[in-house]
Amino acid sequence: MAGALRVNGKMLCPRCKIPMYYTSETVRDSRGVYITRYYLCPACRAKLVDERITITKSGDSVKAVFSVDGRTVIAFRVERPKKRR
Ligand SMILES: [Zn+2]
Repeated sequence: MAGALRVNGKMLCPRCKIPMYYTSETVRDSRGVYITRYYLCPACRAKLVDERITITKSGDSVKAVFSVDGRTVIAFRVERPKKRR
């Protein structure tokens, strides 16, 4: 997290030097679910992404990617459960 300041567990806006809110956003579409957790500055609306979780479907499998500070920490693919007939 370049330029960000963490003081007593609070993230300060690199521009305004005031504490930022921690919030999350979930976006769903036909391909999957995207969850982003980020710090938001109440003054200038600057956004600092903390972690991102992406779950996408492709064919018969589901891919999950976890990123922290813009780096992928875990990525895996699982087969979707097959229906018994
Ligand atoms: Zn700010």
